[in-house]
Amino acid sequence: MVDHKSSQVKYVFVTGGVSSSLGKGIISASLAKLLQARGYSVTIQKLDPYINVDPGTLNPYEHGECFVTDDGAETDLDLGHYERFLNVPTSQSNNVTTGRIYQTVINKEREGAYLGKTVQVIPHITDEIKRRIQLLGDTGKFEIVITEIGGTVGDIESLPFIEAVRQMIWEHGSSCAVIHLTLLPYLTVTGELKTKPTQHSVKTLLEYGVQPDILVCRSEKPVNAEIRRKLALFCNVNVNAVIESLDASTIYDVPLMMLKEQLDKVVLAKLKLPLRHEPDMESWKNFLGKLKNPTSEVRIGLIGKYIELKDAYKSIAEALIHAGVSNETKVVVDWIHSSKVDEGNVADKMRNLHGILVAPGFGDRGIEGKIRAIRYARENKIPFLGICLGMQCAVIEFSRNVLGMTDAHSTEMNADTKYPVIDIMEDQKKVTRKGGTMRLGEYPCQVVKNTKAAGVYGKQRIMERHRHRYEFNNKYLKKFEDAGMVPSGINPDSNLVEIVEIKNHPWFIGVQFHPEYKSTVENPHPLFVKFIKAALDHSR
Ligand code: GLN
Repeated sequence: MVDHKSSQVKYVFVTGGVSSSLGKGIISASLAKLLQARGYSVTIQKLDPYINVDPGTLNPYEHGECFVTDDGAETDLDLGHYERFLNVPTSQSNNVTTGRIYQTVINKEREGAYLGKTVQVIPHITDEIKRRIQLLGDTGKFEIVITEIGGTVGDIESLPFIEAVRQMIWEHGSSCAVIHLTLLPYLTVTGELKTKPTQHSVKTLLEYGVQPDILVCRSEKPVNAEIRRKLALFCNVNVNAVIESLDASTIYDVPLMMLKEQLDKVVLAKLKLPLRHEPDMESWKNFLGKLKNPTSEVRIGLIGKYIELKDAYKSIAEALIHAGVSNETKVVVDWIHSSKVDEGNVADKMRNLHGILVAPGFGDRGIEGKIRAIRYARENKIPFLGICLGMQCAVIEFSRNVLGMTDAHSTEMNADTKYPVIDIMEDQKKVTRKGGTMRLGEYPCQVVKNTKAAGVYGKQRIMERHRHRYEFNNKYLKKFEDAGMVPSGINPDSNLVEIVEIKNHPWFIGVQFHPEYKSTVENPHPLFVKFIKAALDHSR
């Protein structure tokens, strides 16, 4: 890889104002995509102001899905967008929380690194924040680092991050650019877009010593020239640096919308970088074309226990979209609450599905509903994909209903089960601390020849990302194989079963890992692609 001098690395900061949930992650990823398409090497980092050391300990209801990187970081779901847009893996360094910053500083204090000094937010905490921002620049892999600051300007907890941005600008000057993402509310009564909240938000940023260079304005109506001039005047930005960001029908539209608004050009001008060439977005446009013009449609049941919050399954939902595009098929997702599936209604809920996907999860809420749905998929020969807990449930279902092991279970749900077909890994038994202690990140898997999995991957050695503590219990392996549920992927080092499939079923695959984390626009994941293909065949 090219070694870019860290002194020449440029930094773009993305802050948010007026409201949360305006889509800083998508704007950051879209900008990165355009810069990448002009030939720049770019990465994106997310700074999260909360005190958890990482989101691994957060309930998905709090924070949506926990994304996992190759190197085993449990991260914010925005990193998933970064990877899906850029097709470049992120790492531990791409997500930093206040908790992580304080933990580092406090550990250093205990080690005597600041001996004699009072340890303070400024400079010690802000120095650590700046070090973390520059860590990615210092790898020599990137010309531009985009740092998204979580939360909204004015939040008490994001203050040290904004202060670190101010210091970075003070120290690096024209190597930095600040984008402020804001909302222009539309007042139906007067029929106007209002700029005042943005003016106030920029004032707050100015109070902290940060002048934004670019305003990206979320709006449900077009932002006319007059409003752009007004915003430019009140917020000290060039009028061409007021960028409109209209609501999009899909997140994959946003890079092209930003291209039209010339966000990439404005950023490069501010950073004093050449435009190089026009962004090559051909394959992206091709993807969008197929996304918007499907030739067929399939209905996939996604069975999980966080159905009320679709962000809890973000990567799965996106991987299904990528796979749909590969098959030129619209994937309609039927979000099914696992707690609400039972013997009495399972047929009604599953009858119209062309594929059934059982989601990952922890704990026993909704577990019997998942197992019931899997039985339906197995017996009715509906294409099935089980991910992590979904795979474990498929093993439990098979042991109970095919092998006759009444009450077989995972020891996660029933520690005293007579048939612990899913059991805790030996080296997990002594783990008591939470956070970063599961089997996490990328592990190799050897795909078994002449299996469905071998056909899916088309190669024998694969690398997939994990996040779990429990495993298929190899003690029972022979019984499963004899009855037709075979292991089709094995970890070559530990012999753990990573993939299972049922021989006399058109398409029934359970995976202990998380393929969804690796699906990108450029590289849709083969398991999802083939699952949708199987669903399509089933629908016909
Ligand atoms: N709860 C299961 C385990 O820890 C599955 C985890 C998951 O689905 N990510 O093994």
